[in-house]
Amino acid sequence: MKLILLGPPGAGKGTQANILSQRFGIAHISTGGILREAISACTPTGVKAKGYVKRGELVPDEVVTQIVAEKLGDERVKNGFMLDGFPRNVNQAKNLDSSLKKFGQKIDLVVYFQTSPNVSIQRLSGRRVCKRCGANFHLKNMPPKKEGICDKCGGELIQREDDREQTIKNRLKVYEEQTSGLIEYYTKKGLLQTVSGDLEAEQVYKELLKKFDDNNKIEE
Ligand code: AMP
Repeated sequence: MKLILLGPPGAGKGTQANILSQRFGIAHISTGGILREAISACTPTGVKAKGYVKRGELVPDEVVTQIVAEKLGDERVKNGFMLDGFPRNVNQAKNLDSSLKKFGQKIDLVVYFQTSPNVSIQRLSGRRVCKRCGANFHLKNMPPKKEGICDKCGGELIQREDDREQTIKNRLKVYEEQTSGLIEYYTKKGLLQTVSGDLEAEQVYKELLKKFDDNNKIEE
């Protein structure tokens, strides 16, 4: 299954992608995750991306399009992938269409996580991530057993720099201005299905399975 997860920051796309990749072994391609790794490893891509990510702005299209094109060429994603955080504007969506065409592939389904701004803000401002293994926690919704320490690897939990209040507001504004137009783009292509991103993760997961089932996209 070739899937795009679409929705504002804090909609729970990454959470669902993690569950789906564990459960069905579908490759999870998160452009935000790839960029954060590149930034911490100070690669040339990371150096280019750093300022944009810090300010909550979009990294230039050619940088992210190149990252995704490389991933799509990988043997391991031939049978399926989930794109999380890409595309983020119509130009990226068109670039994606061209890359997929080159590899003889196409998107099966776009899931739009419809989420209220208040829910996004609450999730992002309380999110803490493990510095070592990248696991996600939430101060209220999913607190670690021991404050500030990752349950999985014992690493230190930190707040992502772009999860600070001012940057969250900017990310949501950027989403409204540049990304939300993709809802129409994929509706016109007949690929869009909507789930409620405001629900608890378990309920969203159930809704997702139902959408897959309705569209004959996956078998448990
Ligand atoms: P995310 O983890 O998806 O919220 O992404 C974190 C940050 O990475 C974003 O605020 C952008 O600065 C950058 N980013 C991730 N994906 C893209 C993309 N498709 N296009 C441009 N910038 C991106």
